Amino acid sequence: MGFLAGKRAVIVGLASNRSIAWGIAQAMRREGAELALSYQSDKLRGRVEEMAKELGSDLTLPLDVAEDAQIESFFAALTKRWDAFDILVHSVAFAPMDQLDGRYIDAVSREGFRIAHDVSSYSLAALAKKCEPLMRGRAGALLTLSYLGAARPLPNYNVMGLAKASLEANVRFLAMDLGASGIRINAVSAGPIRTLAASGVKGIRDMIAHVGATSPLKRNVTIDDVGNASAFLCSDLAAGITGQVIYVDSGFNIVGMAFPSEADKTAG
Ligand code: NAD
Repeated sequence: MGFLAGKRAVIVGLASNRSIAWGIAQAMRREGAELALSYQSDKLRGRVEEMAKELGSDLTLPLDVAEDAQIESFFAALTKRWDAFDILVHSVAFAPMDQLDGRYIDAVSREGFRIAHDVSSYSLAALAKKCEPLMRGRAGALLTLSYLGAARPLPNYNVMGLAKASLEANVRFLAMDLGASGIRINAVSAGPIRTLAASGVKGIRDMIAHVGATSPLKRNVTIDDVGNASAFLCSDLAAGITGQVIYVDSGFNIVGMAFPSEADKTAG
């Protein structure tokens, strides 16, 4: 029996079979969870329905987290099938392309800042508000995805780094509020992975190569690595963990300095 047997999990953020949410959904299914999946727009509907089928689910619903009305109708439709659930995964981020190219000081704009923070951070609080009454008394768990740019400047990541810093603070404030109801919330800060969202960040290829060459594990993480850690964090095995940002990044975040050539020699 898997460690999520008997749990119901809502996964928000599936776009393709490269999505981090796909790695998480697969790991959660393998560990016995029953899944509900959302899709952002009609464009993604068919693909997400196919993925749901592969995961033994027929529960797929539209959800654009930038629209309050859609959040309302998503939970109204969800609760027609599930009167309560245990897990919600928020694997969503967005900033306009012009924000993710060049110097932060040049690229950032009021509108770019607003959109990045609204979609990538506020949406977590908006979903948590709806989850609280539906998870109460069930050892509920929420999980979101962050990135190192929350803590340190990185080329081209720009305003998305600020939005991730806000997201991580969001996790801590929500952990304080939800804890009294026995609900936990954590973030996984993943290393760079080639996904649709990541391809919007200029230079992502170089970032991936750099982590592969200089991280302690001398490799990049996969959506399975992130999926397994996320499944654990949302399970009762992690019952004592809340308000945390857990790095799943081959250890890259601890490195002060590493020279790729030296690293290659040691690895060889
Ligand atoms: P992805 O493109 O597969 O997933 C991003 C998802 O966000 C998509 O499903 C998209 O539909 C959804 N989304 C965007 N705007 C939305 C909206 N308004 N309403 C509903 N959904 C919306 O890319 P991914 O890399 O799997 O990204 C998932 C999460 O992981 C993001 O928070 C991202 O910042 C984070 N992350 C990614 C990496 C990486 O290198 N890929 C590293 C660390 C963290």
